[in-house]
Amino acid sequence: MSKAAAVLKRLKAPHFRLAQLRQAVFRDAQDSYEAMTTLPEELRRALSAEVPILRLSPALVRASADGLCRKALLRLHDGLKIETVLLRPSSRRWTVCISSQAGCAVACTFCATGLMGLARNLTAEEISDQVLFWKQLMRREKIAGGEAGPDNVVYMGMGEPFANYEPVAQSLRALMDQTQFGLGARHISVSTSGIAPKIERFAEDFPQVNLALSLHAAEDSLRTKLVPMNRAYPLESLAASLRAYLERTGRKIFVEYVLLRGENDRPQDARSLADYLRSIGPLERLHVNLIAFNQTDTPHQAPPEAEARRFQALLRRDGIPTTLRQNLGQDINGACGQLLAKN
Ligand code: SAH
Ligand code: SF4
Repeated sequence: MSKAAAVLKRLKAPHFRLAQLRQAVFRDAQDSYEAMTTLPEELRRALSAEVPILRLSPALVRASADGLCRKALLRLHDGLKIETVLLRPSSRRWTVCISSQAGCAVACTFCATGLMGLARNLTAEEISDQVLFWKQLMRREKIAGGEAGPDNVVYMGMGEPFANYEPVAQSLRALMDQTQFGLGARHISVSTSGIAPKIERFAEDFPQVNLALSLHAAEDSLRTKLVPMNRAYPLESLAASLRAYLERTGRKIFVEYVLLRGENDRPQDARSLADYLRSIGPLERLHVNLIAFNQTDTPHQAPPEAEARRFQALLRRDGIPTTLRQNLGQDINGACGQLLAKN
């Protein structure tokens, strides 16, 4: 918006034009300046020539057979590509899953994005424009009546958000800004693989935004194998940051745990997970999301559903609120951990 504001200023447009432009872009999700008929033609022409509405161009959009998931491949100005996903996890809600980096350096062994390595960080606009892209598409395709945008945004696409902290923070402010997306903090979730110091910073900066932690193992040698970054922030330092988070925010932490057959899904893994979580805080402030492994080009395997249920039952028996997440979008490789921006 700052570039557009500069154009309006140069053309000596009155102040209210910027508010009209914001409404057309963010509230009405118009995808061309020509359609913004509240603005005079001279302004529309100048903006068209100088300021793209989206800094991303769609290369491919695919929909899952059940219609509950769409995945878009978006091209950045330098030719790099990222993926973003629109999901309908319940009949009344639409959730957008966005990327914070092109690739990822954390290199979790089971994750398609991790296999690519890091190409570069995204800018704040490249992050929030993914939400705008889906809002425009929802209007064009009359999804949810075509009137509203996504209800929730999750930073669970490609990349580690806390390895790109400043732009992610700026994009969060844009999503919550009433003159832009106007989303409530509680409708936004940021997922991290566990950069401990950034968790504490996030608690200070965004105490109302949901935090998800990708844990996957509660024993250091196993976690280091799966999430190599555990070497830098081992479980004990992570626990200290999570305690600080709970204390500062008074909120819940969502713990993500990808079930990998024969690796982290044994009864003793459930026990060490329960012990670890108990060491962090009151169990009602923690919620475990078990995710059955989605197939990627790696040697890992998902456990059979009955095994996953058994793991869930063990945690519940230990008093830990636990859900087994349904995986939308597997037929288009749009599920958790399958984003790789290649096809
Ligand atoms: N980098 C951040 C956010 C993006 S990943 C993070 O790791 O938290 C979003 C979630 O998908 C994480 O919990 C991640 O562990 C999980 N995931 C990665 N690969 C997966 C796979 N193959 N199957 C299921 N979940 C996967
Ligand atoms: Fe990066 Fe998250 Fe994938 Fe790990 S799971 S490689 S942190 S995107």
